[in-house]
Amino acid sequence: MTETTVYLDNAATTPITDNVLEAMMPWLKEGYGNASSLYSLGRKSAIALNKARAQCAEILGCESRNVYFTSGGTESDNTAVSGAAHAALLSGKKHFITSAFEHHAVLEPMKRLAREGFEITYLPVYENGIVRPADLEAAIRPDTSFVSLMAANNEIGTIQPVAELAGICREHGILFHTDAVQAAGNIPLDMRGTGIDMLSLSGHKLHAPKGIGILCAKDPYPFMLGGSQQNGRRAGTENIAAIVGLAEALRAAAEHTAEKNAKLRPMQERIITEISKLPGAKLNGDREQRLACNVNISFPGQESETMILKLDLKGIAVSGGSACASGSLEPSHVLTALGRSYAEAKGSLRISMSDLTTEQDIDAFLTALPDVIK
Ligand SMILES: *Cc1c(COP(=O)(O)O)cnc(C)c1O
Repeated sequence: MTETTVYLDNAATTPITDNVLEAMMPWLKEGYGNASSLYSLGRKSAIALNKARAQCAEILGCESRNVYFTSGGTESDNTAVSGAAHAALLSGKKHFITSAFEHHAVLEPMKRLAREGFEITYLPVYENGIVRPADLEAAIRPDTSFVSLMAANNEIGTIQPVAELAGICREHGILFHTDAVQAAGNIPLDMRGTGIDMLSLSGHKLHAPKGIGILCAKDPYPFMLGGSQQNGRRAGTENIAAIVGLAEALRAAAEHTAEKNAKLRPMQERIITEISKLPGAKLNGDREQRLACNVNISFPGQESETMILKLDLKGIAVSGGSACASGSLEPSHVLTALGRSYAEAKGSLRISMSDLTTEQDIDAFLTALPDVIK
């Protein structure tokens, strides 16, 4: 197999950085104690766990006891939806609102609820890939109890007006969840003073390991039953190394967000400008209101898979849309939600950068591309 030398698929996952690995190492080796054990080896783990939790809480702007460590973004999203469903069964308010282009980790639980008697409204995202607050306001009914809208989209990187959307929900006394998996590390996230009740994020999208994530939530319905870990709401022996790694990754991301965006904006501009010169190329999602790390372009008449494999032969890794949906024959639900045609949706490429991306990476990609779509 070809060696990947240019990695431009950071929205799918990111490599673990040295600072994160270093923070984790002691907890993978000598610090193996169970955080619930009474002797010092265990107490050391408990101290590291509490410190990591406090650090994440401080950065995210929520209380320490509202930070739950999960297995990742999917678990956090599923838990937010199913917790809201449980409350709705008690209150009888079984109308939920989300958008047409959420991640499948939100859409699939919503679909299941629809089969079980819930009513789900999917807000449109228009051609620019942004939810309109007025649409949310108009969709709210007396029996609406839960809204889930992502902070930034994983395929096209468009940034949603989350504070405004959450504010509307707060006014109506509706529980608001945001999937901030792509936003974390790319734009500042602060729940303080907002109407955001629940927030999901995932470690591996910001240089922490796979299999660790966070759900910020106040007194969530217990979602993993067993021991008394995590207030008895998410039982199971905590993965201290991964948790410490995630806290370090969040700290580094928060510290360097401005610097990272200042570096990536011009690179994003350059990719968009250069690609726009190619025949038929069409940018997906708003040009301004998008994460600095994301470019998503359609080449009608091309096949994403073919372009990806041709680029791979040159050592370049990009994706067609979300990694999770690849392999399916259906065009991206995100691009169809923008009103893109079947041909446009089938021929999309997502280029996603991280703070490790270099100008040389962009050079290599831009040099290789014209050949690939010829
Ligand atoms: C990656 C991703 C998820 C899933 O996170 P995992 O940790 O891989 O389960 C959920 N939502 C969004 C927006 C994502 O990009």
